[in-house]
Amino acid sequence: MKYDYDVIILGSGPAGFSCAMQSSKFGKKALVIEANEKYLGGAWINTGTVPSKALRETARIIQRYHNQFPDEENIKPYAKYEMAELLSYKEKTLKSKNKKVAKDLKKNEVDIYRGFGVLIDPNTVEVKNGDGETKKFTAEYILVATGSKPIQPKNFKLDHNKILDYASILTLTHIPRRLVVIGIGVNAIEYATTFSKLGTRVTILNENDTFLRWLDHEIAEQVHEILADNKIEIVMPTKNIRIKDNDIRNVTEVSYQIKDDKEPGRKYVIETEHVLYLGGKTPNTKNIGLDKVGIKLDKEGFVKVDKDMRSSVESIYAAGDVVGFPRLASASFTQGRIASCKMFDIARLEVEAEIPYGIYSIPEMSNIGLTENEAREKGLDITVGRAYYKNITQGDVSNQQTGLLKLVFDTKTLKLLGIHIIGERASDLIHLGQAVMSLGGDIRYFINHVLNYPTYSELYRVAAFNGINRVYKAGVKYKKLLK
Ligand SMILES: Cc1cc2nc3c(=O)[nH]c(=O)nc-3n(C[C@H](O)[C@H](O)[C@H](O)COP(=O)(O)OP(=O)(O)OC[C@H]3O[C@@H](n4cnc5c(N)ncnc54)[C@H](O)[C@@H]3O)c2cc1C
Repeated sequence: MKYDYDVIILGSGPAGFSCAMQSSKFGKKALVIEANEKYLGGAWINTGTVPSKALRETARIIQRYHNQFPDEENIKPYAKYEMAELLSYKEKTLKSKNKKVAKDLKKNEVDIYRGFGVLIDPNTVEVKNGDGETKKFTAEYILVATGSKPIQPKNFKLDHNKILDYASILTLTHIPRRLVVIGIGVNAIEYATTFSKLGTRVTILNENDTFLRWLDHEIAEQVHEILADNKIEIVMPTKNIRIKDNDIRNVTEVSYQIKDDKEPGRKYVIETEHVLYLGGKTPNTKNIGLDKVGIKLDKEGFVKVDKDMRSSVESIYAAGDVVGFPRLASASFTQGRIASCKMFDIARLEVEAEIPYGIYSIPEMSNIGLTENEAREKGLDITVGRAYYKNITQGDVSNQQTGLLKLVFDTKTLKLLGIHIIGERASDLIHLGQAVMSLGGDIRYFINHVLNYPTYSELYRVAAFNGINRVYKAGVKYKKLLK
């Protein structure tokens, strides 16, 4: 063999992991290089996806329990539960996921080497390990899957005690009474709703003019209602955010201004126990030799790749957060696998361009395809069908009545063009619609097939009936169609 390996993978997050597993299934010799001495799995397992979801799940269980068995004295969860209790579940999950990743790689005969990898030429990686030793490895192909890291705030410093980021929030020893979340997107609403379910009073400071602007407008309306019901305040667009300790009052003070305020220059102050900063992310593309081998980056420093995940250098591919949008574990798994298929010219595993998005707020949101407004702006003749959680039996039996499922479909062919859900289990539920949509199906699927009952999937059936009734402008006329 000309090289030590068929493929070397920098990083063991979802992109690197899936590329390694797929390459091994193709009978290729793969090496994963991981800079973290202790853990495998990157942000996916250790600081991002899995731990935040494990904490959220605990908050969700507490919320559901309180919904079902309301406490007469209305004692807040933070007064009843210790953060350590909530995080013990997360710790267990992290341990078992770390073990599983290591076991899967080992079982598939993927080699693992710990150390910081740097590209030396298009087929060589030099790795410096924790003891300062360097070692070189060669391969026919290299996958850069080094992920991303949080951008540091400009106007204040994270101390990981009072002012936290998405990693240090998971080391809190108590449930805060008051939390200010500084952030613009998905993670902000996820953490805001999670802590609010634990009784924390939450304010979100958003420096942008819009909040989750890609959501279908009716889902966005529901979000605002849910936030109001949970007494979560969103202040936007803010500027000049500053943070300081007030030792006399033993609080942290967050001051800010509002862009284009009616009273220009007015300063607002919130007293809080903790601040959670969830700014943007920057790709891990520095100091890893990309410039030396001639890999092109975009303006923000993300690796430029084609649809096969190939970079500007023929033998080097990149996948995951390091290539930019959508920066999700879900997409990273697929991108890593695509890279492996393309490297070894096994192109039978093509991937649909349309992907679902999940927002793990409480309740969840998920969507795929066109929103109602996007479809209308494109000039399409569409109709929508809606179903509300409060009108289905599963909503009643599980006491989860908040939410909506909305189908956007072509009026003539009834083909599904978009699905938008807010409510319990939205991120699982989306996949039934996704399957129908990607197989070119139409909304009659949900009427012509028996669905388990009671389930949240009934939302699809109700929304399909609702949509068809609209198309035929009468309740009984859909019978014609069912023939
Ligand atoms: C709070 C939070 C919640 C999230 N929730 C979700 C969610 O619910 N669903 C979802 O789909 N996504 C979620 N994400 C996003 C998801 O975690 C990332 O998109 C995903 O982990 C990116 O995968 P990756 O393989 O590109 O990189 P990572 O998972 O970041 O892994 C990169 C790995 O590369 C290693 N590395 C870096 N440089 C080198 C080097 N030079 N040599 C060797 N190793 C190196 C790092 O140590 C790391 O282990 C969340 C993120 C955060 C922060």
